[in-house]
Amino acid sequence: MDFLPIFMDVRGRTCLIVGGGEVAARKVQMLLRAGAKVEVVAPELGNTMQTFNQEGKIQWIEAGFDPAHLQNPALVYAATDRQSINQQVSELAKEKNIPVNVVDTPSLCNFITPSIIDRSPVVAAISTGGASPVLARLIRSRLESMIPAAYGQFATLAAKFRDTVKEKIDPKNRRLFWEKAFQGPIAEMIFSGRTDEAEQAMNKMVETCCRADGGEPLNSGEVYLIGGGPGDPDLLTFRALRLMQQADVVVYDRLISPAVLDLTRRDADRMYVGKERDNHSVPQDQINQLLVDLAKQGKRVARLKGGDPFIFGRGGEEIELLAEHQIPFQVVPGITAASGISSYAGIPLTHRDHAQSVTFATGHLKDGSSDLNWQALAQPGQTVVFYMGLKGVETISSKLIEHGMDPKTPAALVQKGTTPDQKEYIGTLETLPQIVKESDIKPPTLTIIGSVVTLHAKLDWFQPDEQRGNEPRVF
Ligand code: SAH
Repeated sequence: MDFLPIFMDVRGRTCLIVGGGEVAARKVQMLLRAGAKVEVVAPELGNTMQTFNQEGKIQWIEAGFDPAHLQNPALVYAATDRQSINQQVSELAKEKNIPVNVVDTPSLCNFITPSIIDRSPVVAAISTGGASPVLARLIRSRLESMIPAAYGQFATLAAKFRDTVKEKIDPKNRRLFWEKAFQGPIAEMIFSGRTDEAEQAMNKMVETCCRADGGEPLNSGEVYLIGGGPGDPDLLTFRALRLMQQADVVVYDRLISPAVLDLTRRDADRMYVGKERDNHSVPQDQINQLLVDLAKQGKRVARLKGGDPFIFGRGGEEIELLAEHQIPFQVVPGITAASGISSYAGIPLTHRDHAQSVTFATGHLKDGSSDLNWQALAQPGQTVVFYMGLKGVETISSKLIEHGMDPKTPAALVQKGTTPDQKEYIGTLETLPQIVKESDIKPPTLTIIGSVVTLHAKLDWFQPDEQRGNEPRVF
């Protein structure tokens, strides 16, 4: 190790910055976050520094650097564009045993500032020993996505309970206690902003653990109803990924792509309850009951659904039964097929020149096709997106034409959107049935109807053309 990692308390202490530009301003920002008093020596200030000065956040010494400015600060940063000044600051500071950092010049530093992930009071610091700040930042951004923003609140709550837990829970159970708290329903309460509830639950957990009979098991089950997005795993939310990686059981259906499923915990049980159209492999009420049963066994259950669980996902029915049984659950939104496909196929769903509103409708018509308000769907100036519309394409097309929509209205069928098998079939309202008949188009497929479809030709990044082959178009 080239540097000793330490965290320094600079609250209320003076730190000196030599330089008034933007690089210096970034250091000031960090020092202010850590509660330091900041003195800046510079003949002139850049924009950000000027603002700090006007807001009274810094003490500006309007001058070039002079050794007399080095009055025993807690630390000093040199960030001028004159290397001779930076060098002078470094030498003087080292002589006086003042920690010094010269921005971007490791050889003149006796401390370096890491890339940080700030979830105060949790702070993670990454350093490459000055070798490559860019690499440190890349590592940081990967870790950022793994450390939920609410971890700080968690640490604050943990601090409140630390002494009580130490006093009341015997050492062999303490670790288990914290592990459960960090990963179980309490953590989830914090992550979803219910800190008061979390504190109450924590009190209850301490109480239960102290009961002579050992209390209830620490491990209570819960269900995460997770939107798995339309297929591309990159479209998962951070929360979805975190919960997928902590669940003991994963209950998923047909729309969940293998790439998304791959991101669940390796040793989790995986249960397929997929439904093919008209071939319900596990009836909905059995799925609802399964979730209840698994949670009652103390399992953390990830119920993974394609797209968004509350858009044609029957998510509402699944959590109703959980609520009746008082099983903790949370719903994680996902990118719905229409949003994903809209971006990946270059078909904006609204556009000032084309559509002022967008409607998501189900094309799963059975014989109740008249349930849909065809009159309203046929109005101009909007986009209509049909989910589950492949089988009913003929009815959709004829009903809309019958209710006055122009048969030449542009329309698209997009197969397996956002996955490597995405394929767009572009036509018009009247040619949709023919496209389905004549192609080998496969579900899941989304139908988009409206003049926004014309933008596809211009905006589709992934559309292959002769010159580029299959390379995405880069603007
Ligand atoms: N909850 C899901 C929709 C479930 S209904 C969501 O929010 O996306 C199932 C229908 O969604 C399919 O019949 C199809 O119309 C559409 N769909 C889902 N994923 C799709 C994909 N990757 N490509 C095209 N259509 C998709």
